[in-house]
Amino acid sequence: MRNFINIAAVSFMLLLSQCSASKDRMIMTVKGPVKASEMGVSLTHEHILVDFIGADSVNESRWDKSIVSEKAMPYLLAIKKLGCKTFVECTPEYIGRDPVLLKSLSESTGLNIITNTGYYGAANDKYVPKHAYEKSAEELASGWVDEWNNGIGSTGIKPGFIKIGVDSKSLSDIDRKLVIAAAKTHLNTGLIIASHTGPAIPALEQLEILEKEGVDPEAFIWVHAQGEKDLSNHIKAAKMGSWIGLDGINEDNCEEYVRLIKNLKDNDLLDKVLLSHDAGWYDPAKENGGEFRGFTTLFEKLIPLLKAEGFTEKEIDQLMITNPAEAYAVRIRKLN
Ligand SMILES: [Zn+2]
Repeated sequence: MRNFINIAAVSFMLLLSQCSASKDRMIMTVKGPVKASEMGVSLTHEHILVDFIGADSVNESRWDKSIVSEKAMPYLLAIKKLGCKTFVECTPEYIGRDPVLLKSLSESTGLNIITNTGYYGAANDKYVPKHAYEKSAEELASGWVDEWNNGIGSTGIKPGFIKIGVDSKSLSDIDRKLVIAAAKTHLNTGLIIASHTGPAIPALEQLEILEKEGVDPEAFIWVHAQGEKDLSNHIKAAKMGSWIGLDGINEDNCEEYVRLIKNLKDNDLLDKVLLSHDAGWYDPAKENGGEFRGFTTLFEKLIPLLKAEGFTEKEIDQLMITNPAEAYAVRIRKLN
């Protein structure tokens, strides 16, 4: 009996410590740390600004922050009105990342906004800076870890995740280097790795690299997984622990997204799904930034469709609140 009580007491304490650990989890926003439990309804893959000029020419003088702000503001206020609390901005350095712009938008809208560290190796490496070819993965990682420790440049603003990108075929040498650098950065920061990927071949190759580096697949978001047509690969990666980013929602594809989400639900993997639009995109090369795509379709069209298909309120909360907090809470996810 006494043994039993001891075991019960110990397991209760363990449970308590686990509870308080998950209660104390933090996400890192452009305004500083916020409790993961307060992240709320979140869009996990969106953009304010993307500059397609290329790594050798991009610089902040190509856009006027106040004009970009003015353009983006109504779209952010629209999602706030729909109950969204957190906006994950996925534009990496060398393709238009502007943490100061994001911070001012966060201050004026009251939304949590999260920015990133890392380099984007998709689009045939147009956005990979020259030094990435010369430096080792360790050296790249040390630059990204430095942004976490000391803030981005002189802004004092810290990244809340690692954003990389790879091309949609088998990984190239530079893609591989970026993935290794991201793995090393994760182990030093606890920031989750969101990798623009698309098809399964590079997704599974990245998971293999992470494993070699000792990183749990739970620290990896397979971004643009809707690009993979064989849905058994979503199941395979999610069962390994990877997050499945279904993040290209628009007015015309909501039915298809219901099918993709149901596939994961039917396999008990709803807790691995992250949803978003990959919308926005003020483009400095275009007159007044070009056409800006809003972020409301998920709320106005996809969620009602999911409910019509029998998804419960709890399952919607899982997709929109629980999963984002679990993914973006900063913590090291190491393989034992
Ligand atoms: Zn994107």
